Amino acid sequence: MDLHLREDAGDIAAAMRRVVDRGWFILGPECEAFEAEFAAACHVSHAVGVGNGTDALALALKGLGIGAGDEVVTSPLSAAFSALAIQLAGARPVFADIDPDRLTIAPDAVEAAIGLQTAALLPVHLYGQPADNMRLKAIADRHGLAFIEDCCQAHLATCEGVPVGTLGHAGAFSFYPTKNLGALGDGGAVTTNDAVLAARIRRLRNGGQSDKYKHVEPGVNSRLDELQASILRARLPHLRAWTDQRRALAGRYRSALVNQRDSALDMSKRTVPSLAVPPELDRGHVYHLFPVRARARDELQRHLAQRGIETLIHYPIPIPRQLAMAAERPAVCPVADEVCDRILSLPLHPGLTEGDVEFVAEAVAAFAHQWSA
Ligand SMILES: *Cc1c(COP(=O)(O)O)cnc(C)c1O
Repeated sequence: MDLHLREDAGDIAAAMRRVVDRGWFILGPECEAFEAEFAAACHVSHAVGVGNGTDALALALKGLGIGAGDEVVTSPLSAAFSALAIQLAGARPVFADIDPDRLTIAPDAVEAAIGLQTAALLPVHLYGQPADNMRLKAIADRHGLAFIEDCCQAHLATCEGVPVGTLGHAGAFSFYPTKNLGALGDGGAVTTNDAVLAARIRRLRNGGQSDKYKHVEPGVNSRLDELQASILRARLPHLRAWTDQRRALAGRYRSALVNQRDSALDMSKRTVPSLAVPPELDRGHVYHLFPVRARARDELQRHLAQRGIETLIHYPIPIPRQLAMAAERPAVCPVADEVCDRILSLPLHPGLTEGDVEFVAEAVAAFAHQWSA
């Protein structure tokens, strides 16, 4: 990962200068303009800038009146912040196991997890791959549940042609620096087509104030500041090209590693340890990450490190196994458990060249052959 500025450096410097010269740093014209520009990019009527992606999720839940006594069904495989946001809103996360190919919550597992307390469904579009939105939304509708999408890794992604964060009640985005659209600090946004919900979240993010010094409900302090908003405005025009580059690099990985392809988790049943490359199940995938699965994951990571290739594990521990979840309803998620032991994210960001990807893919392929021999 390389977070140094590239073609956006000049625009970012100019944007920061503009904000500093204006001398207006919180809830000003940059945040307002970014909200309109981001909403347009997401094909949604409203975007509300908040402090980070976790708050975007929590405020979407709170804005919909979900809190104490409610359960929210979500994925065991994600950044733990997805589930922490549910706790932050005062509700309880309930985990439904993932689909072994898509790695997002499995509709059948969701059905089984729904109970009398269930108030919302919160799928995560993990690694840039949209969850099975159409089936999940149908389940939410059938049970009268709110539908809130964790889009923190899925800026500009679509599911069956429909932009993520537009199908249900709300979408939550993060602008953490490593995300597909990143600030130079923390930031987040809620997207929604519901004007009433947008207005309530605007109020909640600013201390629950209806007017200055008039706090009509218990809100929080979670605002997208002017500097970060100006930086995001400078970067947003590049996002389409960066997304295309991510998709091109992922395609390169896939064609280089295709001989090792094994889409299911059946590796344990095979006599030869192999490598699973993620299948592209929807052309709206935006490749926040490119995770492969290997039975000898730790050896693969060491093999790549010896060649100067940095990899990361997203994620080493299923969320329900985190101590922070000890008080929640026990979860049985064998697919997520197995994925956490095998998954490894290969380098992928728009600053890489196709040559970089070939170099990594060759190192991965060499390892896979060695382990298959
Ligand atoms: C990054 C991330 C979050 C949290 O976003 P922050 O801005 O770091 O609070 C939540 N869910 C997922 C899937 C993420 O990747």
